[in-house]
Amino acid sequence: MSNTTGDHSAPQADDCNDVAGRVAPVVDRNRCEGKADCVRVCPFNVFEIATLTPRQRRELTLIGRMKAWVHGGKQAVIANPYDCHACQLCITACPEHALHLAPITPRPAEPSP
Ligand code: SF4
Repeated sequence: MSNTTGDHSAPQADDCNDVAGRVAPVVDRNRCEGKADCVRVCPFNVFEIATLTPRQRRELTLIGRMKAWVHGGKQAVIANPYDCHACQLCITACPEHALHLAPITPRPAEPSP
């Protein structure tokens, strides 16, 4: 992706003219170490750091469990998937290469009053 100056440096939030609600990040639970770089860089507050659920812990590999234990059982979670604008800042920022974007189903319609 090129920025507004025409070079090919890391994407900036201003470069992102994609619409929200087409894709959202997916966290590789066996890679995430809860360092929160994604929380800091995302211009749309898509991420939070939260404690893994018992089910999420059970699904980890042995190495994933050890990492989770070292980091207090906290990882990035997708709090607001429909706000993702596909700018890829989080993917660039993640030191563990734990994120990718994937298509999401459209947001369910609000029930009419
Ligand atoms: S791609 Fe951009 S908008 Fe989407 S979660 Fe990552 S930083 Fe946020």
